[in-house]
Amino acid sequence: MDEKLAKECLCPMCPSYVKCDEPIAYCIPEVHTSKCIKWESGCACPVCPVFDKLKLDREYYCLR
Ligand code: SF4
Ligand code: SF4
Repeated sequence: MDEKLAKECLCPMCPSYVKCDEPIAYCIPEVHTSKCIKWESGCACPVCPVFDKLKLDREYYCLR
């Protein structure tokens, strides 16, 4: 996993985030969806620096 991208990940500050023993930066292909996050309560991806860097266009990578 790209540790540098994971450090910039805003997931821990997101209202949907649930602390879990798993890698964050769910948008990175090798990181899968979360086994702990279950509900969409807002997503911080669009304001995350990684979002622009990887040219992302979706939200809720932790769920889908
Ligand atoms: S992918 Fe989006 S909704 Fe899921 S934890 Fe990260 S910022 Fe929150
Ligand atoms: S775009 Fe979303 S999942 Fe990806 S690093 Fe940023 S906050 Fe985390």
